[in-house]
Amino acid sequence: MGNEFYAISKWIASFELASDNKFRDLPFWRGLSSGRFTLKSALLIIRNEDVLDKEAHWLQLWRIKAPQKMKVFAWLALQDSLMTNLNRTRRGFTDNPFCAICVTDYEDVDHVLRTCPRATAIWRHFASAKLGQPRPNADFSRWFWQNLSDTKHEESWPTMFLIILWYLWKWRNGVYFARYALIPSDKIGFLRAKCKEILQALCHEAQQDRSSESARQETLIHWDPPPTGWMVLNTDSASKGNPGAVGSGGVLRGDKGEWICDFRKSMGNCSAMKSEIKAILRGLWIAKDKDIKRVWVQVDSSTLVGLLKDDSTYCAEHASIIRQCRDLIHQEGWEVRISHCYREANKVADALANMGCNFTSGVAIYDFPLPEIREDLLIVLGSVGLEGCLNNKILLGL
Ligand SMILES: [Zn+2]
Repeated sequence: MGNEFYAISKWIASFELASDNKFRDLPFWRGLSSGRFTLKSALLIIRNEDVLDKEAHWLQLWRIKAPQKMKVFAWLALQDSLMTNLNRTRRGFTDNPFCAICVTDYEDVDHVLRTCPRATAIWRHFASAKLGQPRPNADFSRWFWQNLSDTKHEESWPTMFLIILWYLWKWRNGVYFARYALIPSDKIGFLRAKCKEILQALCHEAQQDRSSESARQETLIHWDPPPTGWMVLNTDSASKGNPGAVGSGGVLRGDKGEWICDFRKSMGNCSAMKSEIKAILRGLWIAKDKDIKRVWVQVDSSTLVGLLKDDSTYCAEHASIIRQCRDLIHQEGWEVRISHCYREANKVADALANMGCNFTSGVAIYDFPLPEIREDLLIVLGSVGLEGCLNNKILLGL
């Protein structure tokens, strides 16, 4: 009970009451992650198909390390676009929808790739294969996604699964078109060798990518002061564990690198995205309060930059905070720029956000850098130099 109460109190801590009632609640369509209503998503919900899962599933398929042709084949199979006898009958190409190999059932995608005795004989040799429920409870797509997300026994199983699907189809076509040379006599031995060969090739490819990356010229990234008359606002978020305490922080610096002020805040338990947007909002509030006329917001999340710069983008979950940010950015009397910066150039904000994680509640604002972040300052100062950044009081303590 105590832990539960603590978790709830942390979750509540990530919310702040709106300071004015200008921002009202917005309707949010749960059928899509964008929060916007579409007829297609409504239709999928009526059909009891989970549209959110579907989006994530497709991404999962394209991310699997496997030859592209095999991924495209699996995608076609899931769309029921393979020219099986059942599909050929529907199109009037044949009048026999049955499997010509076992002649016991209609030849559809599920039969070809899973339930035909020819297929089950193969799957049984692979310990990781989940055969799923036999007909009439057959659900090809459920079986497919179960196998594609199973790495418990064998890390490379999703890749092997796609390879086996590909050859099951290829060998069937070998029988139909009398191209028996395509069909090995020892299918299991062939599949094991093929999987090994493809996995090794993919591993080699990844190694080459890594070595070409390390051969690239390295550039030292650091923080540079903005043009004359501008102030830079760097913000970031950090978390201790997942889930764990979340903190946000930010720093405002002038065109000579001078420290205007910094802030750090505990965000309770919330997502990194929420914490990052709130950090920008807080930084903008502080800048506005200090009557700064030109602010350049620099953050290391390109997603966030896109959300704030492009008014046509929409993030339902954080719509209210984004609206407050956009409203502030477009207010008259000041100029605000937003851009992405590398993580290395945002190190001070990251250190402040980490300090925010340790706060119990509330926000702390300082107009000079505390000794705890001096190390991070030394790494990122770049052309500014330490003297430009620290005031005399702190320098004496170094
Ligand atoms: Zn069959």
